[in-house]
Amino acid sequence: MNTADSVGSTTPAAEAVAKRFLAAGFPASDVQVLTPRADKGNVVVRYRGRGTRKPLLLLAHLDVVQALRSDWSPELDPFKLTERDGWFYGRGTADDKAMAAIFVANLLRLKQERYVPDRDIILALTADEEGGPVNGVRYLLRDHRDLIDAAYAINEGGGGALKDGKPFYHSVQATEKVSANFRLTATNKGGHSSVPRPDNAIYELAEALTRVARYQFPVELNEVTRAFFERTATVESPDVAAAMRAIVRNPGDSAAAALISVQPRFNSMLRTTCVATRLSGGHANNALPQTATANVNCRIVPNKPPDEVRQTLVRAIGDTSIEVSRAPALDPSAPSPLLPELITPVERLTREMFGNVPVIPTMSTGATDGRALRSAGIPTYGVSGLFGDPNDARAHGRDERMLVKSFFDGQEFLYRLMKELTSARPVS
Ligand SMILES: [Zn+2]
Repeated sequence: MNTADSVGSTTPAAEAVAKRFLAAGFPASDVQVLTPRADKGNVVVRYRGRGTRKPLLLLAHLDVVQALRSDWSPELDPFKLTERDGWFYGRGTADDKAMAAIFVANLLRLKQERYVPDRDIILALTADEEGGPVNGVRYLLRDHRDLIDAAYAINEGGGGALKDGKPFYHSVQATEKVSANFRLTATNKGGHSSVPRPDNAIYELAEALTRVARYQFPVELNEVTRAFFERTATVESPDVAAAMRAIVRNPGDSAAAALISVQPRFNSMLRTTCVATRLSGGHANNALPQTATANVNCRIVPNKPPDEVRQTLVRAIGDTSIEVSRAPALDPSAPSPLLPELITPVERLTREMFGNVPVIPTMSTGATDGRALRSAGIPTYGVSGLFGDPNDARAHGRDERMLVKSFFDGQEFLYRLMKELTSARPVS
């Protein structure tokens, strides 16, 4: 089903899921399709337990990023699931329909097995995670909080890394950075380009951007990124590992920070980053520019007010004639605590199924719906047991795929984890 925001609808997918649960004997009152807009269907299912603890929420998004048939390999239709050479191909096989399908299959299996959890398990499959106007999670939090209120949630954003086809580490996402855009504007009275002057909007903006490029935000760690660097040190080369251990002991260690920052992914985990992403200026080839503007996209560490980032940018630019747009209002979203109730079984199951690989708490530098849940006070963890090669990540891209073996291993991992998290005594 094409569930891309631009051309598709999530409603048929939500309805198809609801049908499966009704056919499996779930009461209609526990299977709800909610459509804040006709094409923006979400489905929420409640698997009743004994109610001794607050519910567990399983979240996945039904929508996907657009995919054009002409952009994919000729033998693959992005909206038809294709199995070939040990892979599942199709838009959503990685992001995020695999997890949605696994949650559905696992709940149906538990029901068939007459499993009674000690707490309710809530499944929410939602719309517009990838953008689009009617984000399902925000809608549910606002209008149907009671349907999805939970002790904590399992979501996308985590997963395992394969190196040379073998499990290497297993990530649990427990926080994410926040995105904010700032518009930089230089203005000038302009004039005829045959009589240039030293004052020039394009040159002034260019200088401001150069200063932004050279500025580096200070290292700021939290519980999750500290654990990330501690655990990642166990799989890194000795010099990088030593720098990671040093930065955890002392975030002010600039030599360690410099060494770690060589890798863009690690640099983005250490600190807030801001980067120029768009540029425009001038109105004619033969006129002095009257305006020049640039967009600077910042990825802010959790719990840092965007206005503080704006003030830092203004100071780094050091030119009061450059206007920096106001900071957007964003809900704070605290890192989720690394609950032993969750982390301990994830570590045990990882060892049982994937061998002696570290479980690494991580901060997404991009965004998922986890941020909305965390802002609303529901701790959220990206856990999947789905392993892939980070150098072959195709989510949002061409010929998106997942190893068939990874898919079924992830399904089994999440099945066992659901039982661990919903029975007072460990079951495995
Ligand atoms: Zn996703």
